[in-house]
Amino acid sequence: MSYVDDILNRVKQESPEEPEFVQAVTEVLDSLRNVIESDPRYKEAALLERLVEPERSVIFRVPWVDDKGDVHVNRGYRFQFNSAIGPYKGGLRFHPSVNLSIIKFLGFEQIFKNSLTTLPMGGGKGGANFDPKGKSDSEVMRFCQSFMTELQRHIGSDTDVPAGDIGVGGREIGYLFGQYKRLRNEWTGVLTGKGIPYGGSLARTEATGYGLSYFTEELLACRNDSYEGKVVDISGAGNVAIYAAEKVTELGGKVVTMSDSSGWIYDPNGVNLEVIKQLKEVERARISEYVNRVKGAEYHEGRGVWVIPCDIAHPCATQNELRIEDAKNLVANGCKIVAEGANMPTTYDATKYLMDNGVIFVPGKASNAGGVATSGLEMSQNSERLSWSVDEVDNRLKGIMKEIYHAADDAAAENGTPGNYMVGANIAGFKKVAEAMLAQGVC
Ligand code: NDP
Repeated sequence: MSYVDDILNRVKQESPEEPEFVQAVTEVLDSLRNVIESDPRYKEAALLERLVEPERSVIFRVPWVDDKGDVHVNRGYRFQFNSAIGPYKGGLRFHPSVNLSIIKFLGFEQIFKNSLTTLPMGGGKGGANFDPKGKSDSEVMRFCQSFMTELQRHIGSDTDVPAGDIGVGGREIGYLFGQYKRLRNEWTGVLTGKGIPYGGSLARTEATGYGLSYFTEELLACRNDSYEGKVVDISGAGNVAIYAAEKVTELGGKVVTMSDSSGWIYDPNGVNLEVIKQLKEVERARISEYVNRVKGAEYHEGRGVWVIPCDIAHPCATQNELRIEDAKNLVANGCKIVAEGANMPTTYDATKYLMDNGVIFVPGKASNAGGVATSGLEMSQNSERLSWSVDEVDNRLKGIMKEIYHAADDAAAENGTPGNYMVGANIAGFKKVAEAMLAQGVC
């Protein structure tokens, strides 16, 4: 049995209750087969065994009191997966679906994504099965303070630097940062995604969505094409989706769909982002409200964005939201590119179907790396005690996304699988981490 299959079997046996983690490991190791099997050093150093095992996993109780005085308990997580190339770095997710498998898959993916950015960041991820939806600001604050009361002993600006993710935006980062500072009596860049007045980076809010569009723009430019006149399906209506839609529109594309966990909208005239921002960023309302404010748009309950014909699809909501039946619809309707904004939003069978049917597929670890890259830039600014201008951050982000595109493109070609960005991104991300792990000995 090959070394890769041996490790895959072991992960499946040891983690039977962790389907998302097994899926992520399978996708990565499958695409690394040539590289792993052609270099005996990896097996000799048990590199894959170490890569799939987090360096440290912390699971903790998060007790908090709601506005009525009732006590609640949630479960908090921080997985510090790999620190070979830098301090652990990765977001915190607050969502009722959060569990061990989801945080582990996100932490594992983060290793390769962070490596692709070329910045010195290891991989980690955390979160809690807490739902900020429907909670008052005071309740969210008390939850964040309790969460940080435990998390603070495991993180630090040179150890582990968390950021936002689903359910963790500027408000939550502010409360988390305030509690860290209070408990440790030190002001350091221990979190990214901070507000501008207290050490945040300009353009961080926009970075993941903009970065996705810059990556896709470069991919199109290398084919003498552009977003101009393209119809684009986007799912989600959160941080990533909103700023992807904004940049796609600026670059000449027409975004016709968006969604939330209740339903989705189709606006044949192009989604009105002012309305979406007002609903999602100001009112924290449901997307169904969109049709009461914009004429000519449709709202549908449940999932379904991918039935709308498009040239380019950007899934930007959550994992496994683009399934085999969606892939079939996209192919049948002539979609040419699927570039992921969310982490692992496409199921493995849907990914294979898209690629087998000539769709250019870009995994999130490459195309959504702009968020963590800009977090890396925020860390640099905090260390320097300086703030860079929007243009400086945005230009660096654009440069990084172009570099990631070419790194994945070159690695895919060298592997004999040109245009396969799944393989290219995994190889390009893996090689640097693997070399660092080999150099550092068995640890
Ligand atoms: P937000 O919380 O801002 O938005 C998430 C969006 O997806 C919301 O519209 C939400 O709807 C929807 N959504 C969440 N869970 C589900 C679900 N189970 N089913 C259907 N819809 C759902 O998160 P972000 O935009 O920050 O993150 C989106 C994705 O991008 C995630 O996969 C995240 O890991 C990834 N990502 C984020 C980065 C960042 O910088 N923020 C960086 C890189 C990747 P509702 O409001 O109804 O829940």
